[in-house]
Amino acid sequence: MYPATGREGYPPVAFVFTGGTSARRVGRMNRLAAAARSLYAGHPYGYAGTTALNHHQVVPVVVASLERWDQDGSGGAGGAVWWRLGRGGWSTLTEALDNPDGDALLRTELAAHDRRERERKAVEREAERPACRTCEGRLTDERWNEVHRLRPWERNEGNAELCGPCRDAEQVRRDGEHRMRKRDAELTAALQARQPPEPDTRRAWRRRPRHRARNARGRRSRVGGER
Ligand SMILES: [Zn+2]
Repeated sequence: MYPATGREGYPPVAFVFTGGTSARRVGRMNRLAAAARSLYAGHPYGYAGTTALNHHQVVPVVVASLERWDQDGSGGAGGAVWWRLGRGGWSTLTEALDNPDGDALLRTELAAHDRRERERKAVEREAERPACRTCEGRLTDERWNEVHRLRPWERNEGNAELCGPCRDAEQVRRDGEHRMRKRDAELTAALQARQPPEPDTRRAWRRRPRHRARNARGRRSRVGGER
């Protein structure tokens, strides 16, 4: 029958007062406001840090006085002659029926609350961000996530306390050391393979001339018998 208004709550009720003095009309409006409070007053949503009111289960009530409409320059019923009970001041009917303190405010307040929470968590996270052991710079998000995934034995090697560039430099240094140790070991092994043990060498030197002498005289058959 009526198109949706987009406003929360039940269809509004309007009271237009007339007759008597201005003070009497305002007195009657105030009595109505006091008596009907439970029907039109929005309830706090109750989320932390919000002041928005829930108007979904209440009847918006607006009041006006006919005499005020008729004043010059008031704009009639289309002017700022309406009082939404529970609020202060006079406004146009559209403004009076809107709920800037309702769901619209709730959305704004929740968004602000979320933003503050995100900022608070970001500050907390920054405070916890580890510094590099070598250069004392803070770890990047990427490196920090990498550190979280390190295995216990990788942590024991001191990797967890280094930023990306310092970790890379450390790796290059360790690789260099490893290569040097390997080369030293290979060199030592090669030298040991080339030099026979000391005592045998001395004995061989003593015997060689005698062998040569005997060989020279053609006594080859005695060489094997020396041992
Ligand atoms: Zn570093």
